[in-house]
Amino acid sequence: MLLFTAPADLKSHLEEIHGPKTTLGLLPTMGALHNGHLELMRRAVAENDLTVASIFVNPLQFNNPDDLTKYPRTLDEDCAMLEAAGCDLVFAPSAEDMYAQPPTLKLDFGQLEHVMEGAFRPGHFNGVGIVVARLFHIVQPDRAYFGQKDLQQVAVVRRLVEDLAFPLELVVCPTVREADGLAMSSRNRRLNPQERVLAPLIFRTLSEAKERLLAGQTVADVKQRVREQFARQPEFSLEYFEVADARSLQPVAATLSDGQTALCIAANLGAVRLIDNVLF
Ligand code: AMP
Repeated sequence: MLLFTAPADLKSHLEEIHGPKTTLGLLPTMGALHNGHLELMRRAVAENDLTVASIFVNPLQFNNPDDLTKYPRTLDEDCAMLEAAGCDLVFAPSAEDMYAQPPTLKLDFGQLEHVMEGAFRPGHFNGVGIVVARLFHIVQPDRAYFGQKDLQQVAVVRRLVEDLAFPLELVVCPTVREADGLAMSSRNRRLNPQERVLAPLIFRTLSEAKERLLAGQTVADVKQRVREQFARQPEFSLEYFEVADARSLQPVAATLSDGQTALCIAANLGAVRLIDNVLF
């Protein structure tokens, strides 16, 4: 496995090895890898002749400076895990490698900016859009792999691909969970042992809410119950619990019979912000 830090070096290497008869899969990550990332990597390896994983903690997408500073960085371990999963190339630029000058372009994803992650993390999707577009230009993948864990990010990247006509296929992979249901996340490493015991409440809440909706309870009643449940848990602070259309991510007043309904949640547990979702 080869490691690159300079975009131009990676690009010229790929120009030599990525011919018309080879397919290239890209997995964009922020590192501190876990089995969720590796499942995406294994799928990319199975479906492509060549694979690139990027590891870049993108300052542009952090609206909270503390979250950026404390984001775990474990490049050596990440590279060992990627190599074992069959990855061919790793792209791990510094912020200076990635942004020789600060981008002035501003991306606006319309309605997606006004709900959930868009509403609670101003500027976040602008940063995601810019870095993903840059990665697509540098790597020019045939397929790009993203996790359902970040459902709204998938919707944003889908818009980016459609609106800017990136010639690639977006592959969305299911959320990988710990045995107790907690969605795997790099931020889980920052939970203390007591918080780690409490964290599965997030997935339990989503699962119970889904059961209640399927049993015929109204969206309003289910939302109210979730708010009450979190109000009794002082360690958590609920940012949002939303019932939404899985593609547009816009809130719905009733579950959808003609498409997928998404239940989405974001909560702070101590100093760690966790998100999760389920679809049905
Ligand atoms: P991140 O490093 O958090 O930016 O994640 C990189 C990619 O891995 C994103 O497309 C995420 O949605 C995906 N991902 C993160 N956690 C999981 C998980 N538990 N299951 C599946 N995909 C995941």
